[in-house]
Amino acid sequence: MPLDASTRLYGVFGNPVRHSLSPLIHNEAFRRAGLNAAYLAFEIEPHSLPLAFEAARALGLGGFNLTLPFKEEAAGLVDEIPEDVDRALGAVNTVVQRDGQLYGYNTDVPGLLTALAEELSFDPRAKKVVVAGAGGAARSAAFALARAGARRIWIHNRTRERAEGLAEYLGGYFPDTEIETLDGPAGLDGETPDLIVNATSCGLNPTDGLPFDAGLVAVSRAAYDLVYAPRPTPLLAEADRLGLPCAGGLGMLAAQAAAAFELWTGRGEGVRQQMLETLKQCRS
Ligand code: NAP
Repeated sequence: MPLDASTRLYGVFGNPVRHSLSPLIHNEAFRRAGLNAAYLAFEIEPHSLPLAFEAARALGLGGFNLTLPFKEEAAGLVDEIPEDVDRALGAVNTVVQRDGQLYGYNTDVPGLLTALAEELSFDPRAKKVVVAGAGGAARSAAFALARAGARRIWIHNRTRERAEGLAEYLGGYFPDTEIETLDGPAGLDGETPDLIVNATSCGLNPTDGLPFDAGLVAVSRAAYDLVYAPRPTPLLAEADRLGLPCAGGLGMLAAQAAAAFELWTGRGEGVRQQMLETLKQCRS
């Protein structure tokens, strides 16, 4: 559909943002849905996010995504965060504008759960999971897993104090999940994790190694890597070598984008699968 005076504008605010695949998948989804809408990437200066929010209001954007480094700051700039899990998480990656009000959501949480279900048939209920990392993605992953009923979550991170901080924060919200930090395989005390999740940023570069002791993969039943790279990440390569079920972050990327698309347009049917195909095509 050609752009005209009625085109509804959406976008992603980030810095850096020029590598983002979001414009590609959302514009293709708008096209396939026959919607008069467009999606652009906006590189926002680090201290200009409040200004960008005011611009979004003034210009009547239908909605927008937030990516690094703005998800936490965005939580303080929206008018309302309707979901309790998103409020607790304190990070917003999707904003919907309705009647001049900005509503904040975090679709990384359902995105990860959808990807785990679709690609690994994994239901976190009563499961034991190792989450590697302590940044924003690890926080979303750990919240998603705890919220979905995981019995035990071990947080492993290169900087131990950050793992302790995340474990303490999570413990305040999920008293029914055992949450502890983990330094290496010995800390599991012979227990078998049902899943190991890489939520560090390690794995994107061809020179990256595993961000944790390979022994943690060897004792796990399955692996999920949030990192999406054109080739198998070190975690996926190791899991493959061991014959473990495993999947990379493209599925989560598609699922979180499809959840945002549904919040904006009310259209959800088939969008995740179609976005995943678009992503795979552009990767091949
Ligand atoms: P972040 O806030 O910068 O956190 C980075 C984390 O990685 C920290 O815990 C850091 O440990 C750890 N780390 C970095 N380099 C490491 C290394 N060489 N060895 C071990 N640990 C290392 O980043 P983020 O926002 O959490 O994002 C993490 C990754 O998730 C990114 O690759 C992002 O693209 C991906 N992600 C994917 C999706 C998806 O839809 N698939 C969604 C969100 C994020 P320290 O604390 O010690 O520095």
